[in-house]
Amino acid sequence: MTDRDRRRAARRVDTFRCASCRLDVSLDAPGTTHRNHCPNCLTSRHVDQRRPGDRAADCGARMEPIAVSVRGDGEWILIHRCTGCDALSANRTAGDDNPLLLVRTAVRPLVMTPFPLEVLGQL
Ligand SMILES: [Zn+2]
Ligand SMILES: [Zn+2]
Repeated sequence: MTDRDRRRAARRVDTFRCASCRLDVSLDAPGTTHRNHCPNCLTSRHVDQRRPGDRAADCGARMEPIAVSVRGDGEWILIHRCTGCDALSANRTAGDDNPLLLVRTAVRPLVMTPFPLEVLGQL
């Protein structure tokens, strides 16, 4: 291996292709060490079993963002559900995740309440 090859290999950043929107996504993400979902459509893939980045799951199906949770320090966590086996996983959001889709995911329960919101005015 020449010096030039070695430099090129070191510079190469791993990428994955989004299973939903086909975007080529760099694994190098701002604000998180293991990017596991697409910043454009927030779709993930069921490849991790226990820890982020362990790549121990055999499933491989698409995982859809279904909810946002918030940690004590205010960080937003994205909840994914696997379309193949219904597994749930909690994942850190990245600095370049689509803010519109994050907010849309977070407010979805308020848009689809199981009771009319007018009820709140009568409490
Ligand atoms: Zn995508
Ligand atoms: Zn799965």
